Amino acid sequence: MSEAKTVSVLLPIPTDGPYSYTVPEGMSLRPGDYVKVPLGSREVAAVVWDPTDNTVDPKKLREVSEKFECPPMKEPMRRFIEWVAGYTVSPPGMVLKMVLRVPAALDPEPDMPGLAFSGSSPDRLTSARQAVMSFADHGLNWTKSGLAHAAGVTPSVVDGLVKQGALETIMLPPQALQAKPDAEYGKQELSTEQTEVAEALSQTISSGDAGVTVLEGVTGSGKTEVYFEALAACFATGKQALVLIPEIALTATFLERFENRFGTRPAEWHSELAPRAREKTWRQVATGQLQVVAGARSALYLPFENLGLIIVDEEHDLAYKQEDRVFYNARDMAVLRGQMEQCPVVLCSATPSIETRVNAQLGRYRHLKLESRFGDAVLPKLSSVDLRRDPPKSGKFLSPVLMKAVGETIERGEQALLFLNRRGYAPLTLCRVCGHRFECKNCSAWLVEHRFRNVLQCHHCGHNEPTPEACSNCGTLDHLVACGPGVERLAEETLDAFPDARTIVLSSDMAGGVKRMRAELDAIAQGEADIIIGTQLVAKGHNFPLMTLVGVVDADLGLANGDPRAAERTFQLLHQVTGRAGRAGGESVGLLQSYQPEHPVIASIIEGVPEKFFSREIEARKNTSLPPFGKLVSIIISGKDKRETETYARELRLSCPLAEDVRVLGPAEAPLALVRGRYRFRLLIHSPRGFNVQNWIRNWFKSGPKPRGNLRVQIDVDPQSFV
Ligand code: ADP
Ligand code: ZN
Repeated sequence: MSEAKTVSVLLPIPTDGPYSYTVPEGMSLRPGDYVKVPLGSREVAAVVWDPTDNTVDPKKLREVSEKFECPPMKEPMRRFIEWVAGYTVSPPGMVLKMVLRVPAALDPEPDMPGLAFSGSSPDRLTSARQAVMSFADHGLNWTKSGLAHAAGVTPSVVDGLVKQGALETIMLPPQALQAKPDAEYGKQELSTEQTEVAEALSQTISSGDAGVTVLEGVTGSGKTEVYFEALAACFATGKQALVLIPEIALTATFLERFENRFGTRPAEWHSELAPRAREKTWRQVATGQLQVVAGARSALYLPFENLGLIIVDEEHDLAYKQEDRVFYNARDMAVLRGQMEQCPVVLCSATPSIETRVNAQLGRYRHLKLESRFGDAVLPKLSSVDLRRDPPKSGKFLSPVLMKAVGETIERGEQALLFLNRRGYAPLTLCRVCGHRFECKNCSAWLVEHRFRNVLQCHHCGHNEPTPEACSNCGTLDHLVACGPGVERLAEETLDAFPDARTIVLSSDMAGGVKRMRAELDAIAQGEADIIIGTQLVAKGHNFPLMTLVGVVDADLGLANGDPRAAERTFQLLHQVTGRAGRAGGESVGLLQSYQPEHPVIASIIEGVPEKFFSREIEARKNTSLPPFGKLVSIIISGKDKRETETYARELRLSCPLAEDVRVLGPAEAPLALVRGRYRFRLLIHSPRGFNVQNWIRNWFKSGPKPRGNLRVQIDVDPQSFV
């Protein structure tokens, strides 16, 4: 008897590598095939991996249960999974798990019932029936609703014709989610500057030149218009394209713009998508039926059949960083995927990140720039409001200078945006009698008052409780005081000053969710609001033609924390927010309230020369060997018992191998010392740029003490957050 054949199979579980299984008689398997395999008492979807040395006796192995009828995972995708795992120091199975989010998509889409002309005419031809037959009579197949819609009749007319035998039921193959994009459909005339950049970009795509291009352009310069030309060039080659957009669920205008340009909508991919749409999209990406997907960071793990271009819009955006299970930055992983697939990658931003700028300076990335706004639009005039000189009234947060500007703006029938990155009413509630601060019982964080909903809420774990009337510490009634502003509180302040203005408050925790937010954003664009008060979600990618004033309520927020990227972050955010003003031409203004207008970040924003700010920041990073001139890795150790967690963190630290020029800081209690009932400690590793820190960590963890019980260790390579 010949020995049973075996295959390596990668499972979506946290193990070091693939497992071996035997192949049943009559099944033929090749690397990349999707299969179902037994695992313990259940069965899981998995992928046949490349052969590995197998020393296990086949008799001890279990058998593959099923092979899915699905196009196999391509070699570049398998290498991508391994690279992401290697880079992030994660088990490859956990990266695969992100690919296999919708196992139902592995089965072919079912055929759908449809209708066709049977060849025999109906006996009584009413005009409604005639209308239907005039469409059905051409040898085409229809869905029932499609046919009724085309003929302008009710579905019951169609039913009648089926009964008569004039139409017969047939099975239709699944429908494509999207028509082929038409590169000529809504072609825009580009400005001279745009044309030059678009041509340079399209050329790299048509020539099949893989590599990364940075598309830098001030807000409103037409970056989107320009990368549409890159997409057109990609579609002309017949390949698929992926556009990554932060907060895609809120960016309905992007889908519309795309449709106006290419005559069809891109498929969407984000967490708001219904399960059926998700299955269909995944499947049609794998079969190559879909030519373009616009998605959030998770779209990077879709199994494209023939990927020809990746665009990362707002490449500097923090939303690209996942801080959960596999910690990765989708911008960086997009570059990696581009390398694997040998396809070009375009990174777009008005304020490219320091990492990206340095890569461009070193010649690793090509750098294209749009220097001016499109058409008549000019950038807003920026200035600071010195809160030491022009303070708000006691208990208020808006300076008279800003208030006056708001009044004048709405007087002219234009819109004003007041930006504050704080949800809720007030970030802290305290008792005036005993000084008690209301804190979350699961997290080391203050509870944020949400007055609209009448609750105190933790923004880390979601815990909330009704806003109390008495202090929970000393019991005194009616002596609680709200400290500091949130967007809801600003709304109260503007309502006092401008009772007749139409005011909208926008933040990500808005009741009604994404649907409501889309509607509100739409309403703003249509001019149905005078004053908009919002958190950073209004800063992103929206076009509000009437907006001519942006007031930043607290420009200092974010500068104070000890994060190495604080300055860069603040600069990017303020640039993006103020860039909402004046996109449709005319004069516009940005006012930044600050207690330290002389601070280099605030001063550079107002000066309006990003290059100057960034070259200084890059110099500072170089001098301190901070990223990208050195590498940082955070290790977060958490557990339910504080002593036990800290002891383990110390043991782990002591077991780390010696390496020249690698520094390990900590363990230190994390700034957010308690989250969801877990105590947190941090180690920070700082290594030289050329050092393979991932390998070093893997070796360390192999020989070091293992986390016991509920202890957990998370590795964050290139951390963006240090709390
Ligand atoms: P960015 O992405 O750089 O902020 P957009 O691509 O959103 O800029 O363009 C800003 C505005 O200018 C949009 O309303 C867009 O429709 C318009 N626009 C840009 N370029 C053109 C063009 N060539 N023709 C017509 N409108 C344009
Ligand atoms: Zn909490």
